[in-house]
Amino acid sequence: MSRVDDERRATPAKRCALQQKRGLLTALAVVVLAAAVFAAAVFSGGRGGAGGKQYSYTELLMDTDIELQLFSRSSGKSRRVAQDLFAEMRRLELLLSSSDPDSEVSAINDAAGKEPVAVSPETAAVIGEALTYSALSSGAFDPTIAPLLERWGFREGDCRIPDPVELQEARAAVDYRLVEAEAGEIFLPCSGMALDLGGIAKGYIVDRGLDLLAQSGIEHALINAGGDVGILGPKADGTPWRVGIKHPRSGGVIAVIPWGDRGAIVTSGDYERFFEEDGVRYHHILDPRTGRPASALLSVTVVAPTTMEADALSTALFVLGPQRGLALVESLPGVEAVLITPQLELLISSGLGDLLERTGE
Ligand code: ADP
Ligand code: MG
Repeated sequence: MSRVDDERRATPAKRCALQQKRGLLTALAVVVLAAAVFAAAVFSGGRGGAGGKQYSYTELLMDTDIELQLFSRSSGKSRRVAQDLFAEMRRLELLLSSSDPDSEVSAINDAAGKEPVAVSPETAAVIGEALTYSALSSGAFDPTIAPLLERWGFREGDCRIPDPVELQEARAAVDYRLVEAEAGEIFLPCSGMALDLGGIAKGYIVDRGLDLLAQSGIEHALINAGGDVGILGPKADGTPWRVGIKHPRSGGVIAVIPWGDRGAIVTSGDYERFFEEDGVRYHHILDPRTGRPASALLSVTVVAPTTMEADALSTALFVLGPQRGLALVESLPGVEAVLITPQLELLISSGLGDLLERTGE
């Protein structure tokens, strides 16, 4: 824990330097850990009763601490289900990770400009969905963003500001419309193109985890993957989970959404992975049009029927900004959002006004 504390105290710029020294995996886990701890504090846990006891489990997966909360009448069953869940999530991570050289996504990237790659139905499904959200957001969401992330050093952890020529080169390789996805085969037609599913894969994996829990007979559960929260059903006593939205600067809780139905609440923030230079913050959600970090919002929280949808849309809205972002949300049934502007104003979609609880933070 002391290393965690050391890194939490580090200034953002130093955090990035620490990433260089220790490698991406450790550093990212630490940055997101704060979100997991925060979420744990906000979910109020019930105990006992007819629906069983509440059990909590944590596992490091996808560079973050995955937190599982479930109610069960049997501690043995609860433990077995948690093990199965984490094994399934790990299996999917090994397909979809762009940092793991053995993943299917890496195989697609290695074959860019050369040949199509046959992939599993899961990988094909996530890429298909990613392309759908790209079209829906007019390219604000773009899974071919990898070359830009690379130039900013967000993939390797050696964060830096790229020069304009580099940025221009990378932007030329980013265009979701070029991806060929057909009959379980994916082809990136130009060398230099690469996929990064960091804006959607976590959500998909949480959804498959919720499916596994349901198939195992669990009815009351929540999975929190570092800010991607998937909910299976209310707590055993029928009350909703209380999911906090982080204040993007103080780190406290700015608002709470009570939610007890199957659904998801996902937040994208400029405070999750960033570095600072000359007082300017550079973070990991990039606008494909400019090649630079999107700057119109500090945080976007999306409520949606599936975690994948909420995940992709939170990233998309972050790039679209307040006006186009809210317009998109209002056009989608079952989707709500809270956007936090640089002036720390909360913009709330029409269906969420009555539900959202402000904390006064
Ligand atoms: P996190 O995974 O940190 O919770 P997000 O869901 O908002 O945050 O996703 C951010 C990740 O999405 C980045 O780390 C990167 O992998 C990827 N990404 C960044 N910009 C875009 C974009 N414009 N479109 C799609 N994916 C993006
Ligand atoms: Mg996302």
